[in-house]
Amino acid sequence: MTDRYDYIIVGSGIAGLYTALLAREQGSVLLVTKGSLDECNTKYAQGGIAAAIGRGDSADLHFKDTIVTGTGLSDPVVVRMLVDEAADRIADLVNLGVPFDTADGEIALTLEAAHSLPRILHAGGDTTGAHIEDTLGNWLHSAGVKLLENCLATEILVTNGTVCGLKALGCHSGRIKDYECRFLILATGGAGQLFKYTTNSSVSTGDGIALACSAGAAITDMEFFQFHPTALRLPGVTRFLISEAVRGEGGRLVTAGGSRFMDKYSPQGDLAPRDIVSRSILAEMVATGRDNVFLDITHMKASYITSRFPQIYRVCKEHGLDITRELIPVAPAAHYMIGGVRVNSWGETSIAGLFAAGETAGSGVHGANRLASNSLLEVIVFGKRIIERSASLEKPRAAEEGRPEDRISLSRRQPAAAGKPGLVALKRLLWHKAGIIRDGEGLTETADTLFAWQQKLPPATDRPSYELANLVLTGRLLVEAALYREESRGVHFRSDFPASRPYWQRHIVFT
Ligand SMILES: Cc1cc2nc3c(=O)[nH]c(=O)nc-3n(C[C@H](O)[C@H](O)[C@H](O)COP(=O)(O)OP(=O)(O)OC[C@H]3O[C@@H](n4cnc5c(N)ncnc54)[C@H](O)[C@@H]3O)c2cc1C
Repeated sequence: MTDRYDYIIVGSGIAGLYTALLAREQGSVLLVTKGSLDECNTKYAQGGIAAAIGRGDSADLHFKDTIVTGTGLSDPVVVRMLVDEAADRIADLVNLGVPFDTADGEIALTLEAAHSLPRILHAGGDTTGAHIEDTLGNWLHSAGVKLLENCLATEILVTNGTVCGLKALGCHSGRIKDYECRFLILATGGAGQLFKYTTNSSVSTGDGIALACSAGAAITDMEFFQFHPTALRLPGVTRFLISEAVRGEGGRLVTAGGSRFMDKYSPQGDLAPRDIVSRSILAEMVATGRDNVFLDITHMKASYITSRFPQIYRVCKEHGLDITRELIPVAPAAHYMIGGVRVNSWGETSIAGLFAAGETAGSGVHGANRLASNSLLEVIVFGKRIIERSASLEKPRAAEEGRPEDRISLSRRQPAAAGKPGLVALKRLLWHKAGIIRDGEGLTETADTLFAWQQKLPPATDRPSYELANLVLTGRLLVEAALYREESRGVHFRSDFPASRPYWQRHIVFT
């Protein structure tokens, strides 16, 4: 077997699997993933996937909701593609066998925050991501894609400004090997492991962003990290997402005393955008001196709860909580990396032959705030465009810049008296100083500490040490962008600059 492929794809979530299946129709494909095939964020997606396919809905309405939520930074050209191509891509998933839930013979649609209408398709109630991952994973086995599990991408190989391959570490053998390709697709997911509290799986360590940055690709919008307002908060229990669809179906946020509070903070109440709900919950937590608020769904029929939210019901029950009768303790947690490797509408990066798909990509769709359930949709719409583009190119091309932007670079910082770099310390630091509410002082201190840690890190040799180095670099990109953006917009909130400023209707790009 040759170690040269037309396509190498890194990652086996929806972005990796979907692009691999399409790429296989164009040439040879190697898919590498650092754990087992199904280790990814995708399989935890609960709420579903947005598409304007319901009666009374339209691509125009979906466009408007996405643009409004993106607070001035969503790129209207790519959002238009997202909403216009949604129905066809959903049809592709249906044809591949994703078993979307139905009601009265039609695809069932639910409502999530900041959508004007119910437009979220779901599968198996709240197990949408697991159904997508299983369906695509099953196809992969029969499609002739060469799969390497427990294989960690460690370096992007570039010659004369064009991608030529990948270095990867066999996690079991400990050996590094080079693989050659014409096109490299980064589908490595997000970076939730930057934060102490996160809904993300352990694989979300910002690898793709760090590798692309080290290879010289432009990285954008890193200050925008979405926090989900409602993750389960039980002592000693890993944060587990309580989907927004729970509020979409009538769940209410309440204090320990049972009083509703969201109407105080937003006219949209419990279904306000996620950044507003997250900050409102933090304010209630401070006001009540507790480390959580509650979600109340006890007014819903028990049989409805167990069939519509089987996974949430089961997980809570395993921890001794019966959500049909008891309030659910919740608090915000880091959820979705909006920024990433800057791509154009074809998924092309600033390095010829290098593409990025899914959460690793900074596509401009989400602007400064992601509309719920637009991320799975983004993957399939732009995943398809990546393969169309690469198949039509005689020679790989780098993307041209097209959005208003400030270009900056990581520079030397004040040496800080920082302790030993470690995952726990990093997650705590980022949560407290670069989380839901930020300020210049905390961000400066954090940037200096991360810089000092970068100097102290020994050369990486195994998966944990590569992941830590990737997190430190990704964290620096996030913190320095957050420091540079002296305003508040979408998910980026600075207590020292609480208002939005017209100048900042532009992107920050690391080059
Ligand atoms: C709990 C939860 C619920 C969510 N619910 C929804 C929802 O309802 N609707 C919605 O639209 N979005 C939702 N999201 C977001 C959405 O699930 C993710 O954005 C999407 O699944 C990301 O897909 P991906 O393929 O880009 O990344 P992932 O699914 O995270 O896959 C990344 C893959 O890359 C691999 N990898 C990473 N680094 C390397 C490396 N160096 N070498 C080799 N392999 C590597 C990983 O092992 C993994 O296989 C949710 C996210 C979470 C965490």
